[in-house]
Amino acid sequence: MQSDSSRSVVLLGSTGSVGTQALDVIARNPGRFKVAGLAAGGGRVDLLARQAAGFGAEVVAVADAAAVPALRAALAAVGVSPRVLAGPEGVAEVAAWPCDVVLNGITGALGLTSTLAALEAGRSLALANKESLIIGGPLVKRLAKPGQILPVDSEHSALQQSLWAAGPGGHDPEAVRRLVVTASGGPFRGMRRAELGDVTPEMALAHPTWSMGPVITINSATLVNKGLEVIEAHLLFDIGFDRISVVVHPQSIIHSMVEFVDGSTIAQASPPDMRLPIALALGHPARVPDAAPAVDWTRAHTWTFEPLDDEAFPSVALARHVGAEGGTAPAVYNAANEVCVEAFMAGRLPFLAIVDTVAAVVAAHTVTAADSVEEVLAADEWARARARELTNGAYLST
Ligand code: MG
Repeated sequence: MQSDSSRSVVLLGSTGSVGTQALDVIARNPGRFKVAGLAAGGGRVDLLARQAAGFGAEVVAVADAAAVPALRAALAAVGVSPRVLAGPEGVAEVAAWPCDVVLNGITGALGLTSTLAALEAGRSLALANKESLIIGGPLVKRLAKPGQILPVDSEHSALQQSLWAAGPGGHDPEAVRRLVVTASGGPFRGMRRAELGDVTPEMALAHPTWSMGPVITINSATLVNKGLEVIEAHLLFDIGFDRISVVVHPQSIIHSMVEFVDGSTIAQASPPDMRLPIALALGHPARVPDAAPAVDWTRAHTWTFEPLDDEAFPSVALARHVGAEGGTAPAVYNAANEVCVEAFMAGRLPFLAIVDTVAAVVAAHTVTAADSVEEVLAADEWARARARELTNGAYLST
């Protein structure tokens, strides 16, 4: 904790896309934030060391313990000597480090332990690692106090802001009719199922509005990302799946909206820039000035909305199904998808077979309660193994 008025921040995944954008926000607001700790995978130790030196971190961790000697050398080269921790336990220790807010920007299921560690330590959790909430739903929900998780995902930040904007009544579950999650539609928006058979990884990697890593970009093309976000919205806001809609909005300016029972809809608008939801989650309840550019109202805009084509993009309906099943089902959906994306990228699986294979793995899974990290990770591993069998086997020759 800080004696001055600045908020101390721990960044997990500091060398990744969300982490570097968070540091950009922090660098531009030196009186508002300070960095207590950093954690990263270990693939970019030179960047991590420069971050530690530039922001004066007290502690630095790498998930890959083998990267420690290189990290120590890089830290020495930039003339700083923070405490160095290693391995998944080291990252979890940084997640529980004394601070005001922990940003979890780790990618994938690996982020679960850190999410739980930060919540257990009582920190505010700026959550960019949606997978940890989705796969560990019951575990995370049991630990999280109301308001302790601040969503960084742009859609959920928009939903949260719309609920806040509604005033105290916005949190009355009776006042909310539905959450409306927007989707850019990805690069294949408007294409019918029959037209998606020959899609290549190169075509899928060309995202129209957001610049992201390869897995999340493919998830955006299949709309699996939107499916995961529907589950995330359900878990964050306690709204039933029948009251969470998805609407395609190609411009990605309206990041999501909340419809209330009186017929009013409150939406949040801003040009696509992750620094805005990051800054809001780090600075809450304050808003950070100039976190990102606002909509330019001096020029003409056209914003369009269209329904989702569930036949071409069955991933969202499948996510509703696994989300409603709960327990280990969302972990299986997430893990099977990651293996199928890998197979697609390697040219071993057609585009449409990504979600079809995930559905086959989900159908073969016996759902259990997801009461422990071990149980969640076992379901995750089972799903990966089953998906590998299907993507390596006779499936493709049919
Ligand atoms: Mg999102």
